[in-house]
Amino acid sequence: MKIIVLLGAPGSGKGTTAEKIRDRLNAVHLSTGDMLRAAVKAGTPTGKTADGYMKKGELVPDDVMVRLMEDRMEQGDANALYLLDGFPRTIAQAELLEQSLVARNGRIARVVFLDAPRDVLIDRLTGRRICRSCGMNFHVRNIPPKREGVCDACGGELYQRPDDNRETIENRLDVYERQTSDLIARYTDLGLLTRVDSAQGAEALAEQVANIVGQG
Ligand code: AMP
Repeated sequence: MKIIVLLGAPGSGKGTTAEKIRDRLNAVHLSTGDMLRAAVKAGTPTGKTADGYMKKGELVPDDVMVRLMEDRMEQGDANALYLLDGFPRTIAQAELLEQSLVARNGRIARVVFLDAPRDVLIDRLTGRRICRSCGMNFHVRNIPPKREGVCDACGGELYQRPDDNRETIENRLDVYERQTSDLIARYTDLGLLTRVDSAQGAEALAEQVANIVGQG
């Protein structure tokens, strides 16, 4: 099990990049945000716990996240390459991931830090639209769909995530600064971190990340 961690604030392009490069790298894209949203929709106990935190833009407690990831890794393929998007988000999650990888003979091959200034993140998040059917991401100005409200890829309906409102976005960015940005120093010290400038076009960013991962 080989892991690539995509690290970065909300809106830094982790999900979009992972979707663009996963086929080329023959990798599995694991988004904890997507897993939690699916749990909320399905009304599972995890979803019921997570819902309130997600609505406010707070982090779901570490014990819930670790259980979710452990379950997912149990079903994982020992030879697969995983692109982790949105996990780990705290030092405690990073420690548990490392322990869990030791037990599975896995390793973190690289951590790619997608760095962008706050104003760019806010602009991306406030304008983001997502396809309800296939999950493809758009942006009202930067990546507009050909037909307003309709997915280019599958014709599905585009929607705005409930936590993509201005107030919750500001909180999510503050939470990232407070609880997640410490991981940058941790992975730099471990010699695993590569920083990329995420304030560039999505295609160029994906290309750069794919090259970095390809060398890992
Ligand atoms: P995302 O789709 O990555 O922006 O995540 C959406 C929301 O899910 C976050 O604002 C958190 O409430 C929750 N979440 C996702 N991943 C994690 C994580 N690793 N730890 C705690 N909460 C998470």
